[in-house]
This record gives sequence, structure tokens and C-alpha cells, in this order.
Amino acid sequence: MAAPVNLKNYTSEALHRALAPLGVTPSLARRIQASVWRRGTLPFDRSDLSATLLQRVAAASHIPSLERLEQAVSPRDGFTRLLLRGDGPDVFESVGIPLYRGTPRARTVACVSSQAGCGMGCVFCRTGRLGWRRDLAAWEIADQVVGVAQAAASPVRGVVFMGMGEAFLNYEAALTAAQILSEPSGLAIAARAISFSTVGVVPAIRRFTAERQPYRLVVSLTSADAARRRRVMPAEAAYPLPELRAALGDYCAASGERVSLAWTLIAGFNTRPDDARQLAEWLGDLPARIDLIDVNDPDGHFVAPDEAERQTFHDALRRWVRAPVARRYSGGADIGAACGLLAGCRRTERV
Ligand code: SF4
Repeated sequence: MAAPVNLKNYTSEALHRALAPLGVTPSLARRIQASVWRRGTLPFDRSDLSATLLQRVAAASHIPSLERLEQAVSPRDGFTRLLLRGDGPDVFESVGIPLYRGTPRARTVACVSSQAGCGMGCVFCRTGRLGWRRDLAAWEIADQVVGVAQAAASPVRGVVFMGMGEAFLNYEAALTAAQILSEPSGLAIAARAISFSTVGVVPAIRRFTAERQPYRLVVSLTSADAARRRRVMPAEAAYPLPELRAALGDYCAASGERVSLAWTLIAGFNTRPDDARQLAEWLGDLPARIDLIDVNDPDGHFVAPDEAERQTFHDALRRWVRAPVARRYSGGADIGAACGLLAGCRRTERV
């Protein structure tokens, strides 16, 4: 007997292909997808013909849901952290990021994991210390947004693939999830409000470019000095800065987009005027924006710069770099939800 069809694991087109042998049309596949994602059930139909067909679909399929093991809300800034379990024993986390709290524009951005653990080994990241455990399935990624939406105080209007894992090393599932999230019969989140973050997996960036994916691209750079970058981001050895620069140049030319470059600020490491100058050299004419994010390391190996150091670096960036620079707030540190803190364990297990 064929395995039951997981109704959350497909784009509407693929769902139609999976259910076509039962007699499901493309429009019914879209109705099924919409009902599954919005209500967690198959659609109800009064006509005898459709009712029989839907009974056949029910018998041949299943609708999974992530198990919520823990939920924490920061009293400080309203960030939410969820600890979740899907198909296997490995757990993973999602974060709800509240924007414009207490205003009519209030909305939430869901930060989702694409893997349980991560094999990229960035030394300033707790997930990296776990190592890779497994890739998540498309439904496990997309369903995190449902979990965040249920926990959030405002509607989810955006998704960032910046939780646990390197999304571009789980490319098929991550891109399928993004399509499910953005389809009108899925969760209908604007594709432009979905961002992929990568340490710079060059072959995947090239594929993303060739496929003309409509989502935004964020690259974690942190240093434009190869030796320094390799010290904190071992991925530099596999995807060196010159190759990364070439791939991003082609991405920007093909898409007409700017690429966002995340710079994790580490005191005494990547905040010297020289770091700004090297960044300017590496950038050349790349259309980019620079996002500065304080490092979060509860073990104290890495410390965020103080205001004076941050200001000196900011001034140097203004002097050398033409790209816009913004400081990004990484919230939820008090509940282990901030960038670099996701550890895939219960709060009481955090050390
Ligand atoms: S920063 Fe991202 S890519 Fe690097 S180890 Fe952490 S989860 Fe993996």
C-alpha cells in the first residue's frame, strides 16, 4: 500500500500531481491546500460527488502538525520562542519577531529553522556548536509559521530563514516551504517579505539566481578578510570570499536587487577601521546594504562592542563604504531567542 500523502508537504501544483490519481483536479487541489493550511482539515463539501472524492482523499492522506514542546515570550520586547518537534526526535526552534508593537501597523515576522542543528560551525553561534542533526522537511519548515502565528499577538506578514540551520544546504525543502508560504492557496505571505539567509553557499546562490527566485537574499559576511572570516566562519574555506563576491555580483545583475550583508559585531575582532576598508574593497560596486548585529554569546567568548567602538566602526564604514548601513536589533536574548542563541533545547537545559 502506498504511503499516505502528507498534505502539508507540497506546493499546490505538486499536491495536484500527488492526488490526481484519485481524481483531484487542480482547483480542488488548491482548495484542499487552502483548507489544510488555514483550518488544519480537509474542505467540507455538500455535493455528493465531491464528498465521495474528499473521503477518498482523507483515506489516502494525512495532515501532520508540529508538536509544541515549549513556548516563551520575552517580557522585555515581546519576542516569542517556540521549541518544536516534527517527524523525528530532534527538536528545533522558531522565533516570532514583533514589529511596530502597540500601533495599528503591528505585525510579526516568523524566523524559521531549516535544519535541526547546523553543520556550518560559525563559532559565535550556539546552533553551530550542536552540529548538524537532520534536514527538516518542507512541511516542518512551513508549519513553524503556523505555530508562530498562533502564538503571536499580531498577524505574521514576513518570514526569515534565519533560525537553526543553513537553508541553502537544505535547498529543495526550504524553497518548497517558501513557495507554500507564499502561494495564495498556502499561507499567502508576499514573496518579497520572505528572506533567505546563508553563510554564502556559492552553488546554491547561483542556483537561486538561475531560478530567479522572488525571495530576498541575506548573506552573513562578518569579515571581508579571508583569514579572519575563516576563524569564525569555517564555511569561508569551502566558499571563499572572491567566489562569493562573483556569485553575488551575478545575483544582483540578474535580479536587479540589492543583497543584504549581515555583519555580526564582535568587539576587538571586526570593528577596526581596517575592517571597513577591506569591506569596501571586497564590495567594489556590489549593490548591497550592511546590517550590523551585535554578537550574542552567553558563554562570553565573544562580546559585542561598546558604544564608542561601535561608533568608530560606523564612522569608518561611512567613510569607506557607499552601501547603506543599518543597525539591527536582535531581540529575545532574555528567552534564548536572539540571533546565535537557538540551541534546540528546553530553557531549563540551557547552560
Ligand atoms: S550562524 Fe547560521 S549557518 Fe552559522 S552555525 Fe549558526 S545556524 Fe549555522
